[in-house]
Amino acid sequence: MSKSENQNNKPLYILVNPQDNVAIVVNEGGLPKGTVFESGLVLQEHVPQGHKVALVDLDKDAALVRYGEVIGYAVRRIEKGSWIDESLVQLPAAPQLDELPLANKVPAPLPPLEGYVFDGYCNADGSVATKNVLGITTSVQCVASVLDYAVKRIKDEVLPKYPNVDDVVALNHAYGCGVAIDAPEAKVPIRTVRNIATHPNFGGEILVVGLGCEKLLPERLMPDLDPSNIVVLQEHAGFIKMVDAIVEKADKKLKKLDQRRRVSCPVSGLVVGLQCGGSDAFSGVTANPAVGYAADLLVRAGATVMFSEVSEVRDAIHLLTPRVVNEEVGRALINEMKWYDNYLDMGGVDRSANPTPGNKKGGLANVVEKALGSIAKSGTSPIVAVLSPGEKACQKGLIYAATPASDFVCGTLQLASGMHVQVFTTGRGTPYGLAMTPVIKVSTRNALTEQWHDLIDVNAGRIATGETTIEEVGWEIFRLIIDVASGRKQTWADHWGLNNALCLFNPAPIT
Ligand code: CA
Repeated sequence: MSKSENQNNKPLYILVNPQDNVAIVVNEGGLPKGTVFESGLVLQEHVPQGHKVALVDLDKDAALVRYGEVIGYAVRRIEKGSWIDESLVQLPAAPQLDELPLANKVPAPLPPLEGYVFDGYCNADGSVATKNVLGITTSVQCVASVLDYAVKRIKDEVLPKYPNVDDVVALNHAYGCGVAIDAPEAKVPIRTVRNIATHPNFGGEILVVGLGCEKLLPERLMPDLDPSNIVVLQEHAGFIKMVDAIVEKADKKLKKLDQRRRVSCPVSGLVVGLQCGGSDAFSGVTANPAVGYAADLLVRAGATVMFSEVSEVRDAIHLLTPRVVNEEVGRALINEMKWYDNYLDMGGVDRSANPTPGNKKGGLANVVEKALGSIAKSGTSPIVAVLSPGEKACQKGLIYAATPASDFVCGTLQLASGMHVQVFTTGRGTPYGLAMTPVIKVSTRNALTEQWHDLIDVNAGRIATGETTIEEVGWEIFRLIIDVASGRKQTWADHWGLNNALCLFNPAPIT
């Protein structure tokens, strides 16, 4: 926090739920031994910012409670006012999946928010778009460098003729050959590439570049696509001819895309993806609840909101299953959790492999504490549908789109699900961005916002210091989503052109 905003650096901690017996220290740089809080609590030792302090004397094996939930057990006696670092917290067992209550506390729908529009593009299929981009799909990694070369030429020689088109993007990936393409789980990477090719921001103008001998041939990838939209490198006489063929077809597509104009579209057409990356102990009390408030506003306006990241909801699943609209959706949610438990088990790990060194430095003791903070992004709406990784979203309202928590894999899968804008919360800081949709980054802490003043779009850190509220930041995020979707405001990632690679989730074997 800036010193002017908190002149006395008054010692502050955040207690989330009245039942909690631990709280987190707010002050930048942490607080020294002997610090006395307004409540009378005295620190027995230095406690770093975002880390937990014991509010009462805790016996060995006592349950440590944050968010009103057990985040772990004390490995030894912990005195009131002591720092509870991760080594003192024993990881509890994950919630059992077979006896969870389903749809027994479905929230009543929130009152509708009428009249919100954004300036977007209308596609022939009725979908809306937030950017006007030519996305060139690839069937296999082999063609990536040729396509990159062609895209550079397109940007230099062709794109300047079409001022209404925002960008040309090579949809390169690591899949397509050397893979067990008929394995059951190969459907995940294949539908991801296919669904990204038809992303609404590309306006239905599909161009595919293939090699000619790969397993995932263009006609298998896009069975309904007219062959005139495909360039096969092995059919061309040398490098220059390949590049010429791509540039020539791209020119025709760009000509069509250049006809697109922004028009007033209802916010209900938007699909907004939520994600966190580089989380810290503030994520669950500042940025994620503010995003959750914005998620509720979007749902009230009729939009689609997706939250994801299986290993970051797994330990809070008992708080989500009561919120699903019916038992069928509940069973789908549990099946995604079971699938992932099994996937991790096959790799010889469990969900404790999730937290990063940065998460722990930021005060998160384990994946339970991380998950309880992570699900705050979902707000308070009923969960109307569950998607398997990379499936298209076709429902309005709050959807659980199952993905790994890995930022780039989750982002790629949310794109495949049709995401128009991503809202990304971060405590440690990441410059993450995507070429085909805007990514709004929300900081959990004032200090990060100040340090990364030209990368962070929204500061939720002021919630921790009491300078603003979850509701105010939630409205700020909601309005920024509309402005960014309209092209009126640019995210910092778009301003600097920061685009991470597409990273496919391939749970099937590589051969
Ligand atoms: Ca993530």
